[in-house]
Amino acid sequence: MEEMRWDLSELVRSTETGSVTAELDRAVADAERFASGYRGRIATLGPEGIKGMLESYDAMQDEHEGVTMYCALSFAANTADPTANQLYSAMVSARTKMGQSLAFMDVELGQLLKARPETVHDPSLKLYRHYLERQLRSAPHLLSEAEEKVIMSKDKNGIVNWSKLQSTWLSSRSFKVTKGGEERTMAYGEIASFPSDPDRQYRRSAYQAIGAALAADELLYTEALRSIWNDHLEMCSLRGYGSPLDSSLLVNDVEEGTIKTLMATVRAHSDLFIEFYRLKAKLMGLDRLALWDILAPVPRGEDRNYTWQESRALVVSAYRSFDPQWATWTDEMFARRHIDGEVRKGKRAGAFCSDWMAGRTAYILQSFNGRRNDVSTQAHEMGHAIHSYLVSRNQTPANALASYCVAECGSIFGELLLAEEMLRQAKDDEERRSVLIGLMDMFCYIVSMVSIRYHFEESVYGVFEKGESPDAATLSRLWTEAKDSIYHGDMEDMAETRMDWARIPHHFMAGLRFYNYPYIFAQLFVFALYRLYKEQGKAFVPRMNQLLAAGSSLSAAELGQLMGFDIAKADFWEKGFVQAEEFLAQLKALL
Ligand SMILES: [Zn+2]
Repeated sequence: MEEMRWDLSELVRSTETGSVTAELDRAVADAERFASGYRGRIATLGPEGIKGMLESYDAMQDEHEGVTMYCALSFAANTADPTANQLYSAMVSARTKMGQSLAFMDVELGQLLKARPETVHDPSLKLYRHYLERQLRSAPHLLSEAEEKVIMSKDKNGIVNWSKLQSTWLSSRSFKVTKGGEERTMAYGEIASFPSDPDRQYRRSAYQAIGAALAADELLYTEALRSIWNDHLEMCSLRGYGSPLDSSLLVNDVEEGTIKTLMATVRAHSDLFIEFYRLKAKLMGLDRLALWDILAPVPRGEDRNYTWQESRALVVSAYRSFDPQWATWTDEMFARRHIDGEVRKGKRAGAFCSDWMAGRTAYILQSFNGRRNDVSTQAHEMGHAIHSYLVSRNQTPANALASYCVAECGSIFGELLLAEEMLRQAKDDEERRSVLIGLMDMFCYIVSMVSIRYHFEESVYGVFEKGESPDAATLSRLWTEAKDSIYHGDMEDMAETRMDWARIPHHFMAGLRFYNYPYIFAQLFVFALYRLYKEQGKAFVPRMNQLLAAGSSLSAAELGQLMGFDIAKADFWEKGFVQAEEFLAQLKALL
């Protein structure tokens, strides 16, 4: 169906291959021209000169954004197409060249800001204030160009390979499980999605088989984790970070106190997860929920199907109830065919929204099968698109990239608006119940599971800092303690789950320590915002628009201030839980 296929032609002058590669060549040449104008000269620039440089950098980003997006999106839409492949490699190679040409800018700008920090607050650079603040904050932790090169090459044969070993080893194992009442041997690729499988006996046997396989190779996983995490500690001391959390705080543009308060608030509310999971057990007809049931589907009667048109109408009307402008932009996304919803072979799995700053719009990819989940995904990605419509109308490219903590503001808020609309339109309690279960399932899973990972990581670093090296038994004990601090032993468990830490790929990702907490931040931040919306009604709408329109021109803390809150204080995060409790109460009322 053509209306479900996106039209990417707006992104380029012509979709003819020769013309696209010529545009890429122009982008590379422009980056070289920019570099030859500024390389080695940034230290001599005054505030006006810096402003001129950042403006021409922004203009260059705007000019060439479309063609790089065209290549990336054509490939995502059809990874098997030879032309798409050719353009994708041409784009990657052009971007690498541009990156090499432009790498001097962060280094030189960092040095200038270190020498003249007052530049950040120069009135002529008002538009770039927070961008420069972030550069200044990172500058002390950058090493010399030669040292950075040495680090890159030792990582290539060190932590990057440890990380690869964990995933390739685990995916090369096979597992004996019981599925549909029969014994089967399955590869990790087949078994990995077991947590959401409807067959309970299979979920349990898969969990057990994976746990046993992890335990059989515990030496390998322990060594991999110790190498990657120890390397992080050494890099932190080399780069002058005070704690293993610090580098992630910089990337996520938040303060340590805020994250500690957030985590303490989650711990203080762990009774909410217990209450919901007890309720989920009841809905599944169980005495007690097991760890392998957390993501299991609740039998929800009929899960009705939605056509593309019905989904469009639902999302548009959900957004209209908040702000008519959101509905107009959503409708425009459909009318201009900026959404690819068709299910096709060769199309990238999952869903994403790609912002097109220069075009003041966005593109969405999803595989729409007409389930409730697909409508939710559409509302989620549309929230990202609305965020993009607002940022591109109010900011320059330098202020476009919101940190992970706030990047999900529009999208999760959009999901809540859709849920509200679905509750309004539901024909019976059964349908209302399943909308609320969907909301609570996701909230409880993200907030509880990510907290466990955070506490585990924190306590393992505590062991390293005492000069000890944790063995497999210690890692498993710390994992179990982190789990108990959230679930309080309320769920059915088994010995094999103690090795869960070895299964989670994020624990082994090279250079990405404390990677997960932005998910909790985003979830609770948006629940708190939604709570404010329910309290303030229409008066909240312009403030939400202002928040989204700020992009990365303000930090998360400043965005909180915009809403009249101090995100370093527990009261703000409490609001997120008040909203979650409200959804739970609505669900209980329907039982
Ligand atoms: Zn998202």
